[in-house]
Amino acid sequence: MDKVIRVTAGKGQVRAFFVQNTEMLEKAREIHQLSPVAAAALGRMMAATAMMGQMLKGMGQKITLRMNGGGPLGTVLCVADDEGNVKGLVEYPQAETENLTPEKLNVGAAVGTDGEITVIKDLGMKAPYIGTYPISTGEIAEDLTAYFMHSEQQPASVGLSVKVNVDYHILVSGGFIIQVLPDISEEQLRLLEAKLICLPPLSELFENLNTPEAVMERVLEGFDPVITEEKQVAFHCDCSQERMEEALISLGVKEITSIIEEDGHAEIICHFCRKAYRFNEMELSKLTQEAKSS
Ligand SMILES: [Zn+2]
Repeated sequence: MDKVIRVTAGKGQVRAFFVQNTEMLEKAREIHQLSPVAAAALGRMMAATAMMGQMLKGMGQKITLRMNGGGPLGTVLCVADDEGNVKGLVEYPQAETENLTPEKLNVGAAVGTDGEITVIKDLGMKAPYIGTYPISTGEIAEDLTAYFMHSEQQPASVGLSVKVNVDYHILVSGGFIIQVLPDISEEQLRLLEAKLICLPPLSELFENLNTPEAVMERVLEGFDPVITEEKQVAFHCDCSQERMEEALISLGVKEITSIIEEDGHAEIICHFCRKAYRFNEMELSKLTQEAKSS
């Protein structure tokens, strides 16, 4: 089961999130037919978005993470809410890059470094909060660490990892975001930094320890970590017939009329879950009427 755990540690001076998102990535891999490097990039993004969803404070709030560094994957996009629903897509899901080593996928080259990481928080207000920061490595975790530091003025350490099997199935996907609060002592901070530097590769930790709890115990060993919340997370798309109707209506009368004249029907495929929605001529005529009155 995929989940996010929320943790406090170091006498309340450290706040952390740990996630395991292997199942949601396997589902995304099947839906989008992801290449191994696309799966690695999307899995890291989904892990981060799932955790950032748990930082939201209210019902119906949403967070979107978008990266486009001009690399062969194009845009990588994920959306999560505080209920644990996560969806994601890669613009060019079959794109591949040469591996760094036979074992190591080159996510940085696949994402590219010529662009920005964008975080959109829809907090239910009129205008969403939008933060951006230039991509430095395309490896995603480093880019998010820089984003937190410079765009949100929140020092954080982000670790994200995906391991893909030779048969393309996802072996493990997970990660953490560790934030230090402003009142942390110099000594605690130094100890934490030293601890994080000495960690074995995250994919190894997740593969060997298997649960976010066990990884957390290992990463925050010595800092008396306490789990304060646990949330199940999963790939879930919120598209619906109604939403697709709204999208069609927003095209306007002229556009819908020309679809009717040219094709007699319409098919819209959801970019996130690839579900197809079909509209026949009668349904389209009805939408024309609604577009007229809207
Ligand atoms: Zn969908």
